[in-house]
Amino acid sequence: MDTATAILIFGNVIRALVFDFDGLILDTEEPVYRSWLEVYQAHGEELPFERWVQIVGSTTTGFHPQHHLEERLGRPLPQEVLDRRIGRRTEMILAQELLPGVVSHLDAARELGWQLGVASSSTADWVRGHLARLGILDRFDCLRCRDDVVHVKPEPDLYIAVLECLGVEAQEAIAIEDSPNGVMAAKRAGMLCVAIPNTITARLDLTLADLMLTSLAEVSLTELVRRLERPGTS
Ligand SMILES: [Mg+2]
Repeated sequence: MDTATAILIFGNVIRALVFDFDGLILDTEEPVYRSWLEVYQAHGEELPFERWVQIVGSTTTGFHPQHHLEERLGRPLPQEVLDRRIGRRTEMILAQELLPGVVSHLDAARELGWQLGVASSSTADWVRGHLARLGILDRFDCLRCRDDVVHVKPEPDLYIAVLECLGVEAQEAIAIEDSPNGVMAAKRAGMLCVAIPNTITARLDLTLADLMLTSLAEVSLTELVRRLERPGTS
């Protein structure tokens, strides 16, 4: 990197930007939630939002929507219902575009000579498949997903694995997240973290993040850095 253009935050040169995937690059969160909500509603049951949010940015260890509904009904859901739910989820995800500002921040980070990573609690197949379909898979230097670690978010393992892969220190990288589980993971890894809530996570507490934005399109990367250093300013 040309030291003349180096960007520092709190005295540390920033060398990498690490993105979450679900709900941050692509809004998969609303389709996944809505697809389950439809199944619950069709069976006259309520999908408890406060339980649902435990799994946003993580895995279904905390709450399993299928098992929960089966317990409520006292019987297993027919395979046909499960298949239809997946079909609806896919249909709704395929209708989504990349979230605003993602591409411009990838471009800006690359111009600064920063490396780019993805840290996701989802499977590598899921993340790689969508990134490839959206034409941005090759923009990233390193991806670390559920398959690569023992503990997903909110544990820091995924972020630590990406930092190792990129060869940068925690204080040299910025994480961008949409969920409390993701923000917690980034902070536990010792990184700066920007939170950008989506329709699901906007109802959750993201105050652990160093900076909160309504959209990645709200600021340039330079402005994002400026606000991270001086979060009270606008
Ligand atoms: Mg997420």
